[in-house]
Amino acid sequence: MPAAFLGHGSPMNALERNRFTDAWRAFGASVPRPRAILMVSAHWTINATAVTAMPRPKTIHDFFGFPQALFDVQYPALGLPELAEEVADAVQPDYVGADHDSWGLDHGAWSVLVHAFPDADIPVVQLSLNLLKPPDWHLALGAKLASLRDRGVLVIGSGNVVHNLRAIDWQQPDAGFDWARRFDEHARQLMTERPADVASLATHRDFHHAAPTPEHFLPLLYIAGLAAAEGAPARVLVDGYAFGSLSMTSYTLDTALPTAGSGSGGSAPFAPDLPAEQTNI
Ligand code: ZN
Repeated sequence: MPAAFLGHGSPMNALERNRFTDAWRAFGASVPRPRAILMVSAHWTINATAVTAMPRPKTIHDFFGFPQALFDVQYPALGLPELAEEVADAVQPDYVGADHDSWGLDHGAWSVLVHAFPDADIPVVQLSLNLLKPPDWHLALGAKLASLRDRGVLVIGSGNVVHNLRAIDWQQPDAGFDWARRFDEHARQLMTERPADVASLATHRDFHHAAPTPEHFLPLLYIAGLAAAEGAPARVLVDGYAFGSLSMTSYTLDTALPTAGSGSGGSAPFAPDLPAEQTNI
């Protein structure tokens, strides 16, 4: 089964059509039908490693200040409780708890899935990001998920390689600041040449600008881990920047899709009503 890291950007991408959402759609259409999707979303951060294990995960609207239409989105995919056990087996001796009732599908998951799998007819399970663990641990955990790919599980990381909400400039919808470009380009070099070394980005001189909090960066490490486990580098699905301080670069493993070149024309300009730090995008 292929795998992907998708740079999700603004939640408004769930409602829009642009070259990023088109790339997510092309990815979804290109893969064999998965038995289930395992989502590693930037928006489920806890001090533990857990996997959703409820049969009907709820759609979570974990943001503020966006139009009602975004709060009306539902992604009614079923869960797959037995996958929680398979994940627990795959990552031993690391411990993964089964979450039966606290989480569901957050917008890091559904804002890309509404495009990649618009019929919502494939079960989706989320894996939490354990914020107590360092970057190399996340990469190693990703590598341990490799066996699930042979069992029909599509692993998707959803975050952003560069994600700095305090630095966002809503007036520059397609721009990337110099430090954002430096970091994103180094990430691209590692993902496409030496994925086992992607955790070293945490020592890059621009890391604290690119990932002032780690949660949008960490899902990349899971796909890097899968690539390292397989010994095959990732490919760029689509790239670009948004609002200066977001990278929209997405990567795939083992797809027949053409690699996208650089270009402009990203998200339509959109400014939420509240300051960026209150929007939780
Ligand atoms: Zn986000």
